[in-house]
Amino acid sequence: MKQLTGIAASGGIAIAKAYKLEHPNLNIEKSEVSDVEAELARLVIALQKSNTDLEKIKEIANIQLGEDKAAIFAAHLLVLSDPELINPIKDKIKTEKVNAEFAVQEVSSMFVQMFEQMDNDYMKERAADIRDVTKRILGYLLGVSIPNLSLISEEVIIVTEDLTPSDTAQLNRNFVKGFTTDIGGRTSHSAIMARSMEIPAVVGTKAVTSSIQNGDMLIVDGLNGFVIVNPTAAELAEYKQKHGDYQKQKEEWAKLTQEQTVSKDGHHVELAANIGTPEDVQGVLNNGAEGIGLYRTEFLYMGRDSLPTEEEQFDAYKKVLERMEGKPVVVRTLDIGGDKELPYMHLPKEMNPFLGYRAIRLCLDEQSIFRTQLRALLRASQYGNLKVMFPMIATVEEFRQSKAILLEEKEKLQKEGTSVSDEIEIGMMIEIPSAAIIADQFAIEVDFFSIGTNDLIQYTMAADRMNERVSYLYQPYHPSILRLINMVVEAAHKEGKWAGMCGEMAGEKKATPILLALGLDELSMSASSILPIRSIISGLSVKELLNIKEKILSCSTADEVLDIINLLNRNNII
Ligand code: PEP
Ligand code: MG
Repeated sequence: MKQLTGIAASGGIAIAKAYKLEHPNLNIEKSEVSDVEAELARLVIALQKSNTDLEKIKEIANIQLGEDKAAIFAAHLLVLSDPELINPIKDKIKTEKVNAEFAVQEVSSMFVQMFEQMDNDYMKERAADIRDVTKRILGYLLGVSIPNLSLISEEVIIVTEDLTPSDTAQLNRNFVKGFTTDIGGRTSHSAIMARSMEIPAVVGTKAVTSSIQNGDMLIVDGLNGFVIVNPTAAELAEYKQKHGDYQKQKEEWAKLTQEQTVSKDGHHVELAANIGTPEDVQGVLNNGAEGIGLYRTEFLYMGRDSLPTEEEQFDAYKKVLERMEGKPVVVRTLDIGGDKELPYMHLPKEMNPFLGYRAIRLCLDEQSIFRTQLRALLRASQYGNLKVMFPMIATVEEFRQSKAILLEEKEKLQKEGTSVSDEIEIGMMIEIPSAAIIADQFAIEVDFFSIGTNDLIQYTMAADRMNERVSYLYQPYHPSILRLINMVVEAAHKEGKWAGMCGEMAGEKKATPILLALGLDELSMSASSILPIRSIISGLSVKELLNIKEKILSCSTADEVLDIINLLNRNNII
C-alpha cells in the first residue's frame, strides 16, 4: 500500500476502484501512405466506432442528464454522418495519399474555422460539434481513448491531474464515489462542487496520476486529506469503520435539520447553502438550510457546446425558487473566467485569468448574454424569494450599470405584460479589496453584501487560490482579511443593510466564532457544512465573543488570531 497526502477538499470516506481520467495528446503528424484502400478502411472503422460510442452516450445522457443535454450527442451523430465533411476527408486520402488522421484534422479544421467566422450562433455551435466529433475519430485512429465521464457505470474514484468544473458537472453521483487530483486547492471550483455534491475529495496531492494505475483499489479520506492505494485488509477494515463513524456523526447532526440556528444567548444567524445546479437543492433541503446564499449560475453554461437559452435558464431558476418555497435564494449572475472556462466562447488566453476579462466585466461588455440571464431571472422571480447578486464588482460604476440594466429589462418585461416581483433585492459580492475598502459607499446603493472570501483572500494576499506553491500565503485568518470583513459588515449595518459571507470560510468550523464576533448576518456554505456549523453556533455566546473582536482585529499575524481561537477552545468557551 501507498499513502499520498493532499488537501482535504470534501468530507467523507470513499472506497472504490481508480478510474484514471486523462486528456490524451492528439498530436498529428503528416505521413504518406502507400495503401490508400487500407487507409480508407481505417477511417471507416474509426467512424463506425465513434458512431457506436455516440449512440451509447446519447442513450445514457438521455436517462441520466435529460433530453436537453442528450441533444448535443444527437448533433454529434449528424456531423459524423455528414457527407459534406466525410467525403472531402476521403478525397484527401485518395488524391494526396496522406494518412487518415492528417486528412481528418485538416478538413475538420477548415470547417471549424469557416463556421467560427460566421456571424451566426447556430453555425458557431456547429464548429464546436465538429471539434468534439473530430477528437473522437482521431482518438480511434491514434489508438488513444477519449474519456467519457457520463458513461461511467460502476463505482469508481476519479484520479486525474485536474478536474475542470465542466468535467465535474458531468459526474454521475451514483457511480463516482470520490475523486483525487494532482493540483488544486480547497477553493478551486472542482473542490467546491465536490462539496455541494457531497462527494469525498482530496486535491493537490501532486502525485496521484503518477502513483496510481487504472483499477487500483483506493481509499479517499476527504476528512484528513489522505489517499491510500491498494490498502491492506486491516486498512480497509479501519476505513470502513471510519466511514461508519462519519455516517453516525452525520445522523447526530441530522437531528438539527429542522432546528433554528441560534446561539446560546439567543442570537440568530441565517445559515444558507451554496449551490451550482438545481439538482443540488435536494441536499440543501436535506441539510435544513434556511435559504440559498449563493447559486453559482455559471455551471448552467458549462458542460455543453453553446450558451443556454433564456427559456432553459428560466426553467432552472424557477425550479430552484419553487423548491425553496419562499425561502431566500441569492442568484449570482454569470461569473465565468478564472478557472471556470467556456470553451465555446473562444475567449483569448490571458496571462492572468483571475485578474482578467471575467464575471461582471464580461457581462457588461457582452450585454446580450447578461440581458438574457437577467430576463430569465426576472421572469422566474414570481415563483419565490429571489435576490440577485453581481460578482466581481470593483467599482461603484459597475454596480450602477449592472443594476440599471436589470431595471431596464424589468421595465421591458413589464411593458410586454410579464409579471415580475417587486421585492427582488439587488446586492453584490465583496471579493475585490477595492470594493471592501469603499464598502461604505457601496452600502448606500445595494440591498445586501455577500463576502466572497475565496477571491477576497487571493486578491488581498496576492496568492493564487489554485497554486499549492503559494498556499501558505492563502490565509483566511490574516488580520487584513478580518479587518476587511469587519469594515464591510459595519458599513452594511450603518445603512441598515445585511451582510453575508458565501466564500468557503463561511463553512469553516474554526472561523465560526470570529464570524459571529464580527456580526455577519448570514453564512452560506456547502450544504454538508450546515448542520455541523449549526451545532457549533448553538454552543456559542455572541456576547462573550464580542470580547475577542478587538483582540482579533489588532493581531499582527494569522497565527496570533488562531492562538486566540485555540485558547477559547481549550477553555471550553467555544
Ligand atoms: C468567492 O470568491 O468567495 C466566491 C464565493 O465565488 P467563487 O468561489 O465562485 O469565485
Ligand atoms: Mg469569487
